[in-house]
Amino acid sequence: MTHPVLTALGLTDHESGTYLGRGEWSKTRDAGVIEPINPSTGEVLGKVYASSEADYAIILERAEAAFKVWRTTPAPKRGEAIRLCANALRKHKDALGSLVALEMGKIKPEGDGEVQEMIDIGEFAVGLSRQLYGLTMHSERPGHRMYEQYQPLGIVGIISAFNFPVAVWAWNSFLAGVCGDICIWKPSPKTPLSAIASMKICNEALQAAGFPDIFFLFNDAGTEIASSFVDDKRIPLISFTGSTHIGRQVGERVAQRMGRSLLELGGNNAIIVDPTADMKLAIPAIVFGAVGTAGQRCTTTRRLFVHESIFDSVLETLIKAYKQVETKIGDPTLATTLMGPLNSQAAVQQYLAAVNKAKAAGGQVRTGGAAIEGKGNFVLPTIITGVENSHEVVQTETFAPILYVMPFKTLDQAIEMQNAVPQGLSSSIFTTNLKAAEQFLSSAGSDCGIANVNIGTSGAEIGGAFGGEKETGGGRESGSDAWKVYMRRQTNTINYSDALPLAQGIKFDL
Ligand code: NAD
Repeated sequence: MTHPVLTALGLTDHESGTYLGRGEWSKTRDAGVIEPINPSTGEVLGKVYASSEADYAIILERAEAAFKVWRTTPAPKRGEAIRLCANALRKHKDALGSLVALEMGKIKPEGDGEVQEMIDIGEFAVGLSRQLYGLTMHSERPGHRMYEQYQPLGIVGIISAFNFPVAVWAWNSFLAGVCGDICIWKPSPKTPLSAIASMKICNEALQAAGFPDIFFLFNDAGTEIASSFVDDKRIPLISFTGSTHIGRQVGERVAQRMGRSLLELGGNNAIIVDPTADMKLAIPAIVFGAVGTAGQRCTTTRRLFVHESIFDSVLETLIKAYKQVETKIGDPTLATTLMGPLNSQAAVQQYLAAVNKAKAAGGQVRTGGAAIEGKGNFVLPTIITGVENSHEVVQTETFAPILYVMPFKTLDQAIEMQNAVPQGLSSSIFTTNLKAAEQFLSSAGSDCGIANVNIGTSGAEIGGAFGGEKETGGGRESGSDAWKVYMRRQTNTINYSDALPLAQGIKFDL
């Protein structure tokens, strides 16, 4: 029987995973079947027919044709298209949020929150469509004007991760859409239904208003088409969100063909709690950061540095809070649930392997540390002490709710440890000491793309540019001037004089 959450979105349990444009979903049935699993029960949620190479060829051909139209559509008109998408998502927020919760395994408020992020970035993009500003410069040559302008880039390839199955697409495609680009999306094979639903909602809104196709979708059964996508010279930008392991390969291959890549990869985020911290703020932020989405956010808090003078009391309070969360683990679609399952059985195995590695390195499991027997991929949220920041298991992002808690003596030492990992996504400090906060935010402070004071590591807002340094990939998307990556910059000089003066006063007398 089709799950009621799918029915609410007009989906069946047999869907095509390929949007070819012009309102057409591919009829390919022989390129494999993707079966997303409900992580709470282990049951198959539906069958998604995978895309063929022929489908991919049609998408590229149509995307190239669509770009010729879209690049000359005035940017504010392009903004109007995105406004319609955001409005349509508003109407379907409850149903789409439920599907995200069901398919990915995050709790319903977080599923709804993800759809809200799509709406928010949509509104941001509408405003942006009238603000794609370049600069005007003063030329050194008389009778000359010099300025820069931003032009549409072309086709943008979006490859997304399972843990934010819809928002990451919107972060990219809504900005790229107002920039005049055409987007082709390859979502995670773990969450294809959320992608199909998002595409239906947005593309139906665009079609009803007579807009051309700007969003395409394919889902491949393996990674062959995705690999060709990465290598495809017709795609000037690949925006990749996922693990550092795959992201490194993608980045290298796009660079080989001199393409542009936007990489949003793994994190290993830390919170520092100094002796002056307000615990009313710190404790809930740590628990939400470490346990929220069952530890499956790129910004999940994985390391906690606590000043030695308050180490025992912070640990005790955290363990009590974790025990409360333990009583509220379950079906993520229920209102009472605080923590859902891991997305896959493989993730459960990785969680268990990390706990064992930490123990082998001398770590002590203070709470949690085990999978929950029964249906679904449920595990206990875990706190481990007695490990060193330099231990391999602490240096590695395990995509699960494991928090390593370590003491520190001085802020210098805490900042040094927080920075001493390969990743550089999110970080925060809890302090009421102005000097400590400023030191943490200074050029000698956190080396991450996100550094917060008195709020946790996860839960970014749309207005700020999102992304991280080092092995997190260096990409920035969503807010601030992240739109520039979706455009090509051009410097223009116009001579309105009767002479041809050369720059730097060079003489070239003929
Ligand atoms: P993943 O790397 O396994 O998969 C990401 C995407 O890459 C999927 O769509 C997958 O099908 C695709 N892919 C796999 N092999 C490919 C290939 N050879 N060529 C092209 N595409 C290929 O990641 P995941 O498990 O889905 O997501 C979890 C990871 O994503 C974590 O490391 C997390 O930190 C990271 N993440 C980062 C951010 C961020 O903004 N920094 C956001 C969300 C998730």
